[in-house]
Amino acid sequence: MAKVRLFIDHPLAAGQPVPLAAAQAHYLSGVMRMRQGDEIAVFNGHDGEWAARIVQAGKRGGELLALDQTAPQRNPPDLWLLFAPIKKARTDFIVEKAAEMGVSRILPVQTDFTNSERIRQDRLQAHAVEAAEQCGGTFVPTVDDLAPLARLLDGWDASRRILWADEAAAGPFDSMAGLPQGPWAVLIGPEGGFSQAERDRLRACPYVNSISLGPRILRADTAAVAALTLWQASLGDWKA
Ligand code: SAH
Repeated sequence: MAKVRLFIDHPLAAGQPVPLAAAQAHYLSGVMRMRQGDEIAVFNGHDGEWAARIVQAGKRGGELLALDQTAPQRNPPDLWLLFAPIKKARTDFIVEKAAEMGVSRILPVQTDFTNSERIRQDRLQAHAVEAAEQCGGTFVPTVDDLAPLARLLDGWDASRRILWADEAAAGPFDSMAGLPQGPWAVLIGPEGGFSQAERDRLRACPYVNSISLGPRILRADTAAVAALTLWQASLGDWKA
C-alpha cells in the first residue's frame, strides 16, 4: 500500500508535536483506518519530508509526533505557469498537473478571451497541495488570485523570460536549444486563444519567446502539460 503523505502547515523537527486539523485526523482514522502508533510521511513545503507517528487521531482533530527527516527539501526550478482559466474540471487539471510537473508558482490570468471571470483560489490551492502529497513532492506551488494578463505584463520583471505557447505558431516545433537558463514563465491561452492586441503586445516584449506545440491545436490543459514538459526537459530539472 502506498505510504500516506500529508502536507502539514507546521514546523517540522525531531520530537516536534504536530497538531492535526479535523479533516486530516478524520482522513487518517476514518478513511485510512490508521491508529495510534502508525507512521505516515509529512512535509510542510520547506523542511523536506519527515516520518511522523500518530499520537492521536479522531473526529475532532489529533496530533502527530515528528520523528526524523526521510528526504531533503526539494524545490522546483524558478518556473511560473500563467494560464487563462477554462472550465472548472479542466482548470483543476491544469493546477494539479502544474504541481506534478514542478512549477514554483501558478498564476491564473484574465485574457481578452478568457472564458471564466472567477476562480476559487482556495480550492485551486488545495488541488496543488493534494498533487504534491500524491506525487512525492516536498514543495507546494503557490496559486495566485486571478489577475489581468495586461496588468501582470505592465509590472513584469524583464529578467524573467516568458515561453509563450502561441496557437498562431502551430506547425513544426523549433528546438529550444539556445534559450537562456534563469527564471521563466510559461504562458497558455484560453479556449478562444489570444486576441490580436495581446499578440501584438507579446510580440513586442523582448523577454517573450513564442513556441509552437506542433501541428495540431491543443486544448489549453494539454498545451500546459506539453509546454511544461518541453521546458523541464530542456531548461529545467529533467535535464542531466
Ligand atoms: N481557439 C484557438 C486555440 C486555443 S488553444 C484557435 O483555434 O486558434 C488554447 C491555448 O493552447 C492557446 O492559446 C495556446 O496557448 C495553446 N496552444 C494550443 N495548441 C498550440 C500549438 N499547436 N502551438 C502553440 N500553442 C498552442
